[in-house]
Amino acid sequence: MTDREALVRYDQLASRIYEERRMPSGTRDLLLALGWVTLRDPRRHDPALTIWARTRDVLNADNKRMWQLITEDVPRYDSDLHDDSPMGCQAPMIRAKRLCGRSTMHGFSECDPATGWSRHWGFCNRPRCREYMAPIWERSRGSHKRAPEPIPNAGGLLPLFFSWNWESKYRKAMELIKYHSSWEPPGYGLSADEWPTVPGTEPVKAFPKLRLVASDGEILTPPAPRLTPA
Ligand SMILES: [Zn+2]
Repeated sequence: MTDREALVRYDQLASRIYEERRMPSGTRDLLLALGWVTLRDPRRHDPALTIWARTRDVLNADNKRMWQLITEDVPRYDSDLHDDSPMGCQAPMIRAKRLCGRSTMHGFSECDPATGWSRHWGFCNRPRCREYMAPIWERSRGSHKRAPEPIPNAGGLLPLFFSWNWESKYRKAMELIKYHSSWEPPGYGLSADEWPTVPGTEPVKAFPKLRLVASDGEILTPPAPRLTPA
């Protein structure tokens, strides 16, 4: 890649990163630093520097912080992120265009058969509200068993931009930072652009990935960053 091509590529990368609205700031910092180190850093051809070590320096971070940043991007389903079920009884009022809203006496969750996402239902004890609840309660029973693996709704952004052995990085990050060794990669894939689009959400756009590196989990110093097709 010529310097001119690297410059154009860096601009595309930065603009695509800023476009991604669901990007947490830590992940954005890491991606921008990786892009800088890979494409623009005056020291990028220094054979003594690995991309990862140089990125850590650029971010003024220690190893622990770097693993934290990876942890924040672990692809996962986080039910707290989307469940904005209202407080109070969710049975609609007949005339007023609003929900009942009284304190709930009956609460349960239901799993969406298409997305595997769960939502919370709550109802008060009034007969009319209980009547409204009955078919929903029926539908919810066993819905967790029938539902597919939930479509991930968090993380998975680093692999959108860089090819790397992310699975082993995520696994190690979960062990080191969260002491959590049971994380498994989503069946839908590690990268957010591979996940099925959930109705009502915007699809994640693909981006031609930069090869960050590596064999067997070790960071190599490539002669120059290599473009890989999206
Ligand atoms: Zn009610």
